[in-house]
Amino acid sequence: MSPRHALLLFVAVLALAPIVPGVPIFWITLLGNVGLAALVAMGLVLLTGVGGMTSFGQAAFCGFGAYTTAVLTTVWGWSPWASLPVALAVVGLAAAVLGLITVRLSGHFLPLGTIAWGLSLYYLFGKLELLGRHDGISGVPPLSLAGWSLVDPRAAHVVIWIAVILAGVLTTHLLDSRIGRGVRALRKGRIAAEAFGVDTSRTKLVVFVWAALLAGLSGWLYAHVQRTVTPAPFGLNAGIEYLFMAVVGGSGQIWGAILGAGLVTLLKEALQRVVPALFGNALQLEGVVFGVVLVVLLQVARDGLWPHLARLLKAAPRVRPATAEPLPRRALGGGDRARPLLTLDRARKQFGGLTAVNDVTFSVGRGEIVALIGPNGAGKSTTFNLVTGVAGLTAGRVSFDGVEISGSAPQTIAARGLARTFQHVKLEPEMTVLENVAMGAHLRGRAGLLAAMFRLDRRDEARLLAEAAAQLDRVGLGEHLARPAGALALGQQRVVEIARALAMDPALLLLDEPAAGLRHFEKQALAELLTKLRAEGMSVLLVEHDMGFVMGLADRIVVLDFGTKIAEGPPDQVKTDPAVLEAYLGGVA
Ligand code: ADP
Ligand code: MG
Repeated sequence: MSPRHALLLFVAVLALAPIVPGVPIFWITLLGNVGLAALVAMGLVLLTGVGGMTSFGQAAFCGFGAYTTAVLTTVWGWSPWASLPVALAVVGLAAAVLGLITVRLSGHFLPLGTIAWGLSLYYLFGKLELLGRHDGISGVPPLSLAGWSLVDPRAAHVVIWIAVILAGVLTTHLLDSRIGRGVRALRKGRIAAEAFGVDTSRTKLVVFVWAALLAGLSGWLYAHVQRTVTPAPFGLNAGIEYLFMAVVGGSGQIWGAILGAGLVTLLKEALQRVVPALFGNALQLEGVVFGVVLVVLLQVARDGLWPHLARLLKAAPRVRPATAEPLPRRALGGGDRARPLLTLDRARKQFGGLTAVNDVTFSVGRGEIVALIGPNGAGKSTTFNLVTGVAGLTAGRVSFDGVEISGSAPQTIAARGLARTFQHVKLEPEMTVLENVAMGAHLRGRAGLLAAMFRLDRRDEARLLAEAAAQLDRVGLGEHLARPAGALALGQQRVVEIARALAMDPALLLLDEPAAGLRHFEKQALAELLTKLRAEGMSVLLVEHDMGFVMGLADRIVVLDFGTKIAEGPPDQVKTDPAVLEAYLGGVA
């Protein structure tokens, strides 16, 4: 049994608990509360654990959901089910607005921002006449289904857990998709993801809104289960507790949210009974004990409890993807043969007083391999960053296939058919080699968010994965495709980056020191691969330190020194150029 199946079984048992005769109502209610909290925590796992955006303000979204339905059902007499889409729309809209403002914030400012709106919305809930101020709104109707009132906690419990299962399934589907790879790259791999066309700002916003919708759904359910809505459960304290649940459960594991929600809810309940009995009521120590227990827990299990649980269950066997209909290929060798594919025209980059790239002009033709060489710090990687849009030009211009690309975002440039590798490997170490390479094919897939959630993307996804597997076979790493990328040797990781770039089906391949750390025979294989790609019409611009490697391979060499181009020409000519010998080989010459 895979961890996933074991967990689904466990959740199903939880969901069906009320059917077992004799289970006390107390426990049913408590498990219902666990489910309500798990919904919020699931969104937080996605947002914080996976996406790296810490939010203390999720409870406020529960509040939006709860208050919207409370007002609609009590003041305007709507049915709870009719108010659900409206409640979710209100939450979604609020999240989109707050997200547009806060998601841009970086570092500590994002969590601080969520604290700020968490606090202010809590006060707003308590101040508005319409929302009943601090007394809140009571008399909220219970849910009913086909004339059946779900006022019994047993019935409510089942509805809550159906929602939890649905949310968990949709969210895991989302993560296991083309969009999901972008989500998983948000935390540490933003630059690499953008280089392959992932719109990271949009992805962040999507995750933010989805997490808020789950919290809003929890709030809607809460309102109809509790039948009373007051501001207290939607304050900052609750927001902090939800964050704890997400972290305790397993910060990157969707289903771990249930574990975290269960543990924190039960712990709080237990402490509220045990601590006053031990120390008396006067001290109200339960909050302190609660905090201490959680801190100890996080010390013992840094990544939360879920990974420990998952280790007990056998991991699902990872398999090579089935073959699928091949993706359409770009027609190389088209366009105006006489016009170079890539042109740098007096490209310049200054970092303060330092001129890293000094009015550099050169071009790369179609089906040509151009090498960019020069001593350390000569400006080679910076030149790459100017071409790919990672860094902005101080002056000059870069054009690709006759179109100016300077000033465009990396995603836009990638979409034109420009793929790159990084000098310092930028793979997602925990993602499999296959998934890392599939990220390269991001722009060749079409399936969006909803398709992913409802598994309508499987054909599209199979084609992307098959393409990734084919590229891995091509570079000789096919047997490693199911391993986490971080488990490979550094030299192999570089080759994985090449496979990822090839999965984009680029017209121009930019390789930053691809042979560094490769063994002799691996370098030979790489040279053969590049020669073959050139024969197919692909253009290659490569930065390399290994002169032997470059001399045998490149059609033309451009030499940089202190940011300035000092020579350009065929290898034989550059090899004997006195300026190059002086600058590049230094003392050796
Ligand atoms: P190369 O790849 O040829 O070794 P780089 O392009 O990485 O050289 O760096 C060129 C120069 O620009 C170096 O002096 C480096 O310290 C400087 N540099 C590169 N990136 C930055 C940055 N983001 N901020 C400030 N200086 C930088
Ligand atoms: Mg470099």
